[in-house]
Amino acid sequence: MKRLVLLGGGHAHLHVLQALAREPLAGAQAVLITPHGHLSYSGMVPGVVAGHYAPEQARIPLAPLCAAAHVTLVQGQAVALDAAQRLVTLSDGRVAEYDVLSLDVGGAQDRDALPGAREHALFVRPIETLVSVLDRLREQASRRALDVVVAGAGAAGFELALALAWGLAHLTRPGDGSSRVALVTGGTQPLAGYPTAVVAQGLKALARHKVTLFREACTAVEPGALVLASGARLACDVPVIATGVGPPAWLGASGLALDERGFVSTGPTLQSTSHPEVLAAGDVASRWDAPHPRSGVHAVRAGPPLALNLRRFIGAGQLQAYTPQRRTLNLLSCGERRAIMAWGDWVAEGRWAWWWKDRIDRAFIRRFAPPDPVA
Ligand SMILES: Cc1cc2nc3c(=O)[nH]c(=O)nc-3n(C[C@H](O)[C@H](O)[C@H](O)COP(=O)(O)OP(=O)(O)OC[C@H]3O[C@@H](n4cnc5c(N)ncnc54)[C@H](O)[C@@H]3O)c2cc1C
Repeated sequence: MKRLVLLGGGHAHLHVLQALAREPLAGAQAVLITPHGHLSYSGMVPGVVAGHYAPEQARIPLAPLCAAAHVTLVQGQAVALDAAQRLVTLSDGRVAEYDVLSLDVGGAQDRDALPGAREHALFVRPIETLVSVLDRLREQASRRALDVVVAGAGAAGFELALALAWGLAHLTRPGDGSSRVALVTGGTQPLAGYPTAVVAQGLKALARHKVTLFREACTAVEPGALVLASGARLACDVPVIATGVGPPAWLGASGLALDERGFVSTGPTLQSTSHPEVLAAGDVASRWDAPHPRSGVHAVRAGPPLALNLRRFIGAGQLQAYTPQRRTLNLLSCGERRAIMAWGDWVAEGRWAWWWKDRIDRAFIRRFAPPDPVA
């Protein structure tokens, strides 16, 4: 029996679990190791923060998927990987040995990049923690006005700032004053890297929700304040760090070939370029032959080829090359039930775009939802 370890209950592994449920894997025992019993679907997280969805509506429970796939679910967090010995070590000291390893652990944020952030700030990753803390924040904001500053104005920071602005403004609260939200961009425009028309729509949405923009870098976090490069201190109850994702730190000593930033270097078949028995997909992986942005869309799309290639690697057959899509549809929620839709340089904004996004997101959740219990 070969031992297959699926590390991380991420977006690509959802599909692997479903594929294993449809067609069990002969000659292998599989385990899924992941810290939480569910995956928080990031596409709906801004909607949760804005109050459009309950947190449970954006969660995909992993236990039913594992049960259907005959995969053992192990709740745990990897802290080390020894690719030469084929061992994964978990934070509680347990060790998992594998013959084949599939990595879908997502990215991580460096908690020490910004002085004081580890102690005083809220990080957008892991998303599970973000969702539960922001849910508590809504309770606090229903009692008193809050100052929130989001540092990092990529898609996640942009959507979160608007979701917070809308969500906190629409809580019924006795007393004076309203919560205030600021967005610190790091010196650029928000949504840097997106087409100009998307940035223009984004700026309109930020203005509509009275999100204050600071186009400079954040240099430190202090209790109750965020310090900017100019020396200004932004008073805030909750600093949210939404700066870009990096690789999990423990990959550094794994012995796997990594790209220049430390992500797992993979090729067309999603295999590690140094260890063919290791496959990786989603934010943790970096395709040397077909670089693409890190996004949930790409992680989801990599699921089917990952499932196929794991099956072929364990069984028989030639592994299939996978070409990621060059363009993807971008849907950015704007706090209230409006969204920006972008396909290349084509951009539109409105309520219908949010409706469209809502349909896609709900359909995704339904696809992985446990079947209704038989009455
Ligand atoms: C607020 C926010 C909104 C976003 N909105 C969008 C969007 O609308 N569209 C879009 O395309 N992208 C969006 N993204 C980006 C998207 O979340 C990621 O690109 C996507 O989640 C990557 O999927 P993944 O499968 O690689 O990893 P994840 O979805 O991060 O899954 C990783 C899994 O691995 C587990 N894990 C982590 N570390 C370990 C460990 N050490 N051991 C074991 N298990 C571990 C985690 O608990 C998790 O279950 C958003 C991101 C944020 C923060």
